[in-house]
Amino acid sequence: MTPRGWAVVVFGVLAVALAVAVLVLVPLHRPPAPRADQVAALRTLPADQVAAGRAFHSALRPAGYGSLLIGLVIALALGLTPLGARLIEAVGRPFGGNWVAQAILGGIVVVLVADLLTLPFAAWRHIILVRYELSTQGWGGWLVDLLKGYAVSAVIGVVALLGFYAITHFAPRWWWAWGAAGAAALVVLMSFVLPVLVEPVFNRFTPMADGPLRTELIQLARTDGVPVRDVLVADASRRTRQVNAYVSGLGPTRRIVVYDTLLTEAAPPEVVSVVAHELGHAKDRDVLTGTLIGALGAALGVVALFLLGGWTSLLRAAGVTSIAEPRAFALLLAVAAVVGVVASPAQALLSRHTEARADAHALALTQDPMTFEAMQARLSSVNLGDPDPPRWEYLYAASHPSTVERMAAARAYARGER
Ligand SMILES: [Zn+2]
Repeated sequence: MTPRGWAVVVFGVLAVALAVAVLVLVPLHRPPAPRADQVAALRTLPADQVAAGRAFHSALRPAGYGSLLIGLVIALALGLTPLGARLIEAVGRPFGGNWVAQAILGGIVVVLVADLLTLPFAAWRHIILVRYELSTQGWGGWLVDLLKGYAVSAVIGVVALLGFYAITHFAPRWWWAWGAAGAAALVVLMSFVLPVLVEPVFNRFTPMADGPLRTELIQLARTDGVPVRDVLVADASRRTRQVNAYVSGLGPTRRIVVYDTLLTEAAPPEVVSVVAHELGHAKDRDVLTGTLIGALGAALGVVALFLLGGWTSLLRAAGVTSIAEPRAFALLLAVAAVVGVVASPAQALLSRHTEARADAHALALTQDPMTFEAMQARLSSVNLGDPDPPRWEYLYAASHPSTVERMAAARAYARGER
């Protein structure tokens, strides 16, 4: 069988494995709480809070969707015309058209062009966050975070670009097989190593001061069967007023992280409720599931790219002879941009179901639906959330159930519906 024949077989196997992983590991069967409960929950929220959340999201939309649209247009303009290939060629020319220079410098320049052209939208977003008093950062802090983000992306980008084009260079017939394995390995590495390395770049973490709350959280984790090493407080307040918490690390390195803003904004029982939700993610191994699905998706993407490389009119449009050459990187980004837009609703759907399961876990662990509901109302208020967002936006991008859905889930739980 030819490499192409094998690629078709592997593509089929990976697609089936991905579908099975999603169906088995993601709790898609869980129906949302009754709409009647959601409407009743919405009525209990202060009207001015709901109005403020809606106004904030209306203000954000032009910047958000503008950025999405312009990013897509730039990716298509560079990738589906010879523009991107010429840019990469020009960047590599001072180095004699060396493939390494084209791969690394050309790749970074193409990404940078797209980043710089969408930068005004990021600044616009920051202006709105400041206007609504969610961001506590000035332009200096914002810029420092932006540059840190670029630096982190550049390091990962260089590893990925050099790795990928070394494979296509040295294994021209079988690069898709090595590339698929490499992409999957990179997803695993990013998922487990990156939080530990990257989180400290943006935040400082200090152990939570000894006291009843710390004792209760550690006890809660032990009761739940997911012991944690420590409870850390992140200094998120120097950037935002928004509140959050998460569990990171695996096994012996597992720790609970709460934003310092959560501790100042929420009552201790509500913090317990938030942490109980996060413990649900740990208990159900949601990070592991996400990593597995991401790794299968990445491997599938590389094989799909190889098969797409047989589409000669696409290559001709991009001004390249092979999809595996560094000059075709802009074409890769264009394909990735289109896939990203199309896959976003599916990703959001999987995420929402996973989050709903963590909510159910929190309710069962704390057996305190009243506090859970109060906590949801508080999160929405502090984070200027739209408690009941427009359906189209919810379906396209919502990573969590809406606030009214989560409040309604607590009401259903209180009635004994599990
Ligand atoms: Zn969650």
